[in-house]
Amino acid sequence: MRRRAAAEAPAEAVERIKRLLDNFLTKLNDDDLRDQVRSLVPAFETLRGLGKGLIPPDLASSARERILLYFQRYPLQVIEGDELLVVAGIGEWARRVRELRVQFGWSICSGVTFKDLVDDEPELAASLKDALGADPRKLKPDQYVMVSTEEDREAAHRWNLLNTIRKKKGLGVRARLLEYMRANVGSPVSIEELRYLAGDKSEWARRMRELRTEEGWPIYTRMQGRPELPVGTYVLDEDKQAPEHDRRIPDDVRVEVLIRDDFTCRVCGWTRDLLRPDDPRKFLELHHLVTHSEKGENSVENLITLCNVHHDKVHAGRLTLDV
Ligand SMILES: [Zn+2]
Ligand SMILES: [Zn+2]
Repeated sequence: MRRRAAAEAPAEAVERIKRLLDNFLTKLNDDDLRDQVRSLVPAFETLRGLGKGLIPPDLASSARERILLYFQRYPLQVIEGDELLVVAGIGEWARRVRELRVQFGWSICSGVTFKDLVDDEPELAASLKDALGADPRKLKPDQYVMVSTEEDREAAHRWNLLNTIRKKKGLGVRARLLEYMRANVGSPVSIEELRYLAGDKSEWARRMRELRTEEGWPIYTRMQGRPELPVGTYVLDEDKQAPEHDRRIPDDVRVEVLIRDDFTCRVCGWTRDLLRPDDPRKFLELHHLVTHSEKGENSVENLITLCNVHHDKVHAGRLTLDV
C-alpha cells in the first residue's frame, strides 16, 4: 500500500477519488475489461487510506489495533464486517479479528457462534437478545459483537492449552470441552473458545449442556443462577461431578428451583453475595429429597437448593433435612 494514500488530507483524497472515478467513467466506453478494472484500483486504494486515517496512528498503529479500538468504543453492539474492513484498511481484517479473540483473549463473538447457541441454550440466547437489542439467530457470520471490554490476561496460556487439546487424537468434542473446562475451574470461558475447541463444529453448545445435565458437571451460564457472569461465557464452578442421583436435572427445572428458593441454601441461608475466601461455602447445588434409586423424580417438588457444605453433610449422613 502506498504511504501517500494514508498520509493524504481527507479533502485532497476525496478530490482524488472523484477524479479517479471520472477517469473510470471514460474507461467504460472502451470495451477492455482489464482496463476498466485497473482504472478502479487507485480509487480503492485511496478509499482505504481514508478509512485507515479515521483512527489516528498515535491511538492505534496497526490494522489489528484499529479493529480493537473500534470494538472497544462500541461494546455490545452488532458490528458489520464491512465496517471492520474500512477501519482496518486491509483485506485480511477477518484474520485479525480471529487473532484478537482467540490469541489475545478479547471477548468478540461472531454471528456463527451465536447461532449455535440458539437451539441448545435458548435462555442464554434470550439474554443475549436483551443485551444486544438484536436477535442472535438473525446475526450473519460476518457480524461481530464485543461482549466484554475486559482483556483476558491469561490469554496466551489459554491459547496454548486450546491448541494442545484441540490437536489430541481420539478425543471427542465432549471430552475436549470437559478437559478445557477442568483446566479453567472458576474462570469464565468464552463461547468462541468452546467453538474453536470443537473444531468449529456447531455441536459444542449441545455437548456443554450434556456435560451439565447428564454428567453432572457444575457448568453454568448467567442463565443458570450466575447472573454476574459476562454474556456469552460458561464457567465450571468446581472440579467435581454431582453425585449420580443429582444428575439429569433439566435446565428449566434447575432455574425454577433456584428461583423458588431465592438462590439461597435452604439450611443456612447462604447466597453467592456472601462469597468469602475463608468461607468453604462456594456454590449452590440442587439435591433430590427422594433419590432416583427410590423412584424420586427430577421435579421442582423433589429438589431443594443447598450450599456445597450442607450438600456434602447430607450425603455424608451428618445432616438430616427437615423440609
Ligand atoms: Zn448451607
Ligand atoms: Zn444431593
